[in-house]
Amino acid sequence: MNVLITAGPTREPIDAVRFISNRSSGQMGLALIQAASAAGHSVTAILGPVSFDLPGQTCRIDVETTREMHEAVMREWPRHDLLIMAAAVADYRPKQLAAGKLARTGTLTLELEPTEDIVATAAAVRRPDQRIIGFSLESAGQIDRAREKLRRKNLDMVVYNPLPTMNSAEVEAVLVDRDGHEQALSRTSKQDFARTLIKRATALFV
Ligand code: C5P
Repeated sequence: MNVLITAGPTREPIDAVRFISNRSSGQMGLALIQAASAAGHSVTAILGPVSFDLPGQTCRIDVETTREMHEAVMREWPRHDLLIMAAAVADYRPKQLAAGKLARTGTLTLELEPTEDIVATAAAVRRPDQRIIGFSLESAGQIDRAREKLRRKNLDMVVYNPLPTMNSAEVEAVLVDRDGHEQALSRTSKQDFARTLIKRATALFV
């Protein structure tokens, strides 16, 4: 299977030296890349700014902004069977990129605009033989938001994971699929979780 996996944060520039980003370390995406490679799949990884090495046979594409990640995903998607959108994509970016370095002059107001919803765009152009898994990092007890994202973004499966997952070595996730099935997994390492998810992903194709 050809698997496309995104991981890490994105960065949205404010000026020549500053950006808006988030705390994603990309460890979940890395675990998925490793698990998919170890299971014999051919993996393309699209990575926001992260500092780790990948299994030797992975095709690696480094990006910085949501716009760049969007372009890379849309370019690569047609030749893949499965998209796993584990990246913590920025939801907003500064509407204007300031030239040079902004001077410090009292209060500064930044106007933000929504970024492209990458996974929703990929879902909108997918073929019937392609499958998509998204992630939904939410405050505890907000699984309804994950269900809503699955429907709104037209995904095959959403991984609901509570907020403490970010930057943690462990995850306590619930897998929600489009048939309404939900599977709560016990707390485990990201590596162990990734092996389970890759196995479950293959079942999406039968
Ligand atoms: O940020 P949100 O909770 O909506 O993310 C849910 C899913 O949508 C994740 O899989 C994330 O990678 C994806 N996403 C995206 N483009 C965005 C925001 C989120 O593909 N602009």
